[in-house]
Amino acid sequence: QFESLENPGHGHCLDLCMLGRLMSRLAVVFGGSRGIGRAVAQLLAQRGHRVVVISRNQEAAQATAETLSGVEHVGLSCDISKDHEVQRAFDTITKTCGPVGYLVNGAGMNRDALLMRCKSEDMVSVLHTNLLGSMLSCRAALRSMLTNGGAIVNIGSVVGVKGNAGQSVYSASKAGLEGFTRSLAKEVASRNIRVNLVAPGLIRTDMTAGLNEEEYGKRIPLGRFGDPQEVAQAVLFLLESPYITGHVLLVDGGLNLTM
Ligand code: NDP
Repeated sequence: QFESLENPGHGHCLDLCMLGRLMSRLAVVFGGSRGIGRAVAQLLAQRGHRVVVISRNQEAAQATAETLSGVEHVGLSCDISKDHEVQRAFDTITKTCGPVGYLVNGAGMNRDALLMRCKSEDMVSVLHTNLLGSMLSCRAALRSMLTNGGAIVNIGSVVGVKGNAGQSVYSASKAGLEGFTRSLAKEVASRNIRVNLVAPGLIRTDMTAGLNEEEYGKRIPLGRFGDPQEVAQAVLFLLESPYITGHVLLVDGGLNLTM
């Protein structure tokens, strides 16, 4: 196949198509219905990968899947914080679509408050969604990646790296995800499975809709919030980089430098 690629001529186009199919992977994107996850799903679809878009809201996941370019994509409902739902989702995916090649854990939430004002149930929800949820989905995806290898990107936060007053629980969930990412990267490298983390700064999504960009932008060296597509580029880079694992990539316009 590679020989005929170097020797364009009869069958060249066919070989290119076959190569494209060989490199195409099944990608599962948690939190794919909105924000950063949706931008990741769009970029993966543009690269020719088949995408399973997951959020709790089935209609939203399906609606996003239908807007993606290329082959037919799938929208699924699953609460990442619930073990049985995550296991069921991966069972369905592997039975109907085949082995998972890429996993992006972009489902996340915040309930920001000073610790003394944090409600216990909010602390549990944040930890279960952001930290436990990503652990559950990684564990379920690994089973599917053992034979052919794969790549995982967890979405952390600059706040997990630097800490921030009023976000201690959210920060703990994201810092925990960093430790988890590095440890899992060591655990599964021999199986050709890579695990990395992207740590965004302030990105224009529903999560930051209540923040004044002009005000907060003053603290960011690049002077503005990021777009979800700018985070998606970094996610794709890590998914496709065959020699990077256990890495934390900040995508924050330099915000970490001023925190
Ligand atoms: P959005 O609020 O725009 O989107 C969140 C997505 O996650 C939605 O698709 C939502 O769908 C899904 N989701 C939420 N909870 C669950 C759950 N329990 N199970 C499954 N899906 C869930 O968030 P962003 O795109 O802004 O954030 C994406 C990730 O990036 C999060 O982990 C966030 O912490 C992180 N991040 C964001 C930053 C920002 O500035 N925006 C900065 C740093 C990190 P549904 O509600 O239907 O389930």
